[in-house]
Amino acid sequence: MTNCVTMTALDAWLRAFARLVAENEDELTRLDAAIGDADHGANMNRGLTAAAAALDEPAAGGGPRLTKVGMTLISTVGGASGPLFGTFFLRMGTALGDQDAPAVETLATALRAGLAGVVQRGKAEAGDKTMYDALAPAVEAFEAALAAGEPLAGALAAASKAADDGCAATIPLLARKGRASYLGERSVGHQDPGATTVCLFFRAALDTGIDFEPAAGEAG
Ligand code: ADP
Ligand code: MG
Repeated sequence: MTNCVTMTALDAWLRAFARLVAENEDELTRLDAAIGDADHGANMNRGLTAAAAALDEPAAGGGPRLTKVGMTLISTVGGASGPLFGTFFLRMGTALGDQDAPAVETLATALRAGLAGVVQRGKAEAGDKTMYDALAPAVEAFEAALAAGEPLAGALAAASKAADDGCAATIPLLARKGRASYLGERSVGHQDPGATTVCLFFRAALDTGIDFEPAAGEAG
């Protein structure tokens, strides 16, 4: 049985992400109020609402859909998170390509490419208290689970768990990048908002509750 990522699944994932961010907008804002300027929830909700609308227009293949999400985030979200999450999705889209149902290994490559884009743009390293601290362990866990023979659903669950752990681990950290770094010691004791959004991205994959195998009649 092929283990692949159908367009339908990817679409549901992205829409579930937009929905979860909308549901958690206040929480993301609260986190950014503590160590930033209280706009992260509004930023991400505005961008992903626009991205979900853009997904209503037809696009060939999963890669182009991700690219559309990335371009929409860059054009509608100011601040640090627009270009960073935008680049993540743009790079993922390019790596995923325009196949209808790329293999899970291609999704792993795409996630890795997205992470590399975030690093290239934001220069964050492990422990800087940024979205990187949830995203990097999630990508690693996803790759490791696939290498261990897990099917896609198991690998996504591993990624989501790693993102959650990475996110919680940002609480005691001193911010070294972005707006929170201006606070110095006062950034300690708060969870990073961008890392929290990364958790919602992986949780959304699980929340879609759909089988990532090709559905009957769908290309695979
Ligand atoms: P802004 O900081 O411009 O107000 P947001 O509040 O929307 O933008 O996003 C803040 C989040 O962006 C932070 O919580 C952090 O995760 C992420 N971030 C900021 N700078 C960087 C960076 N250089 N590299 C990676 N992530 C970063
Ligand atoms: Mg902010």
